[in-house]
Amino acid sequence: MRETDAIAEARRNLEVCNACRYCEGYCAVFPAMELRREFTAPDLGYLANLCHGCRGCYYACQYAPPHEFGINLPKVFAEIRDESYREYAWPQPMARLFERNGTVVSVAAALMVALVMIGAALLVAPERLFGAHQGAGAFYAVIPHNVMVLLGGATFGFALLAIAVSVVKFRHAIGGEGPVAKPFAKALHDALTLKNLGGGGHGCNDRDGSFGTTRRRFHHALFYGFMLCFASTSIATLYHYVLREQAPYGLLSLPVVLGTVGGIGMTIGCAGLIWLKVVGDSAPVSRRLLGADYAMLVLLLLVAVTGLVLLAVRATPAMGITLAIHLGFVLALFLALPYSRMVHGAYRLVALFRAAREH
Ligand code: SF4
Ligand code: SF4
Repeated sequence: MRETDAIAEARRNLEVCNACRYCEGYCAVFPAMELRREFTAPDLGYLANLCHGCRGCYYACQYAPPHEFGINLPKVFAEIRDESYREYAWPQPMARLFERNGTVVSVAAALMVALVMIGAALLVAPERLFGAHQGAGAFYAVIPHNVMVLLGGATFGFALLAIAVSVVKFRHAIGGEGPVAKPFAKALHDALTLKNLGGGGHGCNDRDGSFGTTRRRFHHALFYGFMLCFASTSIATLYHYVLREQAPYGLLSLPVVLGTVGGIGMTIGCAGLIWLKVVGDSAPVSRRLLGADYAMLVLLLLVAVTGLVLLAVRATPAMGITLAIHLGFVLALFLALPYSRMVHGAYRLVALFRAAREH
């Protein structure tokens, strides 16, 4: 990683922390910090991605602002995480999108919705776009299956490739050696349970100095909701190509049940995380990054809500236009994925893997 003001500030913070060590039971950052006397820029990129932003060390710290030392790890680590996503983004010219992330996400969403709707209006006869369709293949009377597969596959495939390349670059930059299987299993467990949001057992500081698990639960609802929606789409693909059954499927079919539960989970998770950002103490937060955080959460919320609305109106004349809007938001999400805060999960897994190998 490059030397930046945030890297210099984190180094200053950690030199104080390394002498103090009061927070060593809070998360994986402090045991990893204690293994070092000096902090290189890649070390700080690694430690910043190990931090889950629970804020526990900020409220516990006797040297936090207004103390003249001004120790504020959650804030400076959030800035370094953002710099690491930018530095290792692929292809590199796209890294500039991180600088205007909130704007990019909003514009991408608006453009994709407009494009899908204009495409549907131009290519689909009005009586099909605004007509009620029922039975197998009803969705494809509005937007052909091949068009959906081509658009979704191309954007999601590119997103996966871009994230994979950027994560490999990050992994190479922070280094680390040792066994693989056991540390990876531990890292995966810690990532999936958000262990570091637990603040050492008493929960994190969701809004202020008091402890709780609200943020962790909302994050779980969003992440596992997203995974259920992904499972729903994957199983629907098997239904289509293996069982030769066309969507829409019955209300009690596996794709619909998984998609509905996932959509509700994502809606609750996104709305809850937005609420926590609005009511939470802003002192341990980097205000510069807030716009991007809100934009991504709102886009995820719109994907989930339009998916649920589509389920509710799928047998009515509103289906065509709702499908076009939902598809637009999904495509915008896929396009924004590699250049948004959504990459944090993969970066955290790599950092947790390195931490598990060190101990
Ligand atoms: S955050 Fe503050 S209390 Fe915690 S280890 Fe660092 S200096 Fe000590
Ligand atoms: S995970 Fe929490 S305790 Fe650990 S460094 Fe980040 S904010 Fe501090």
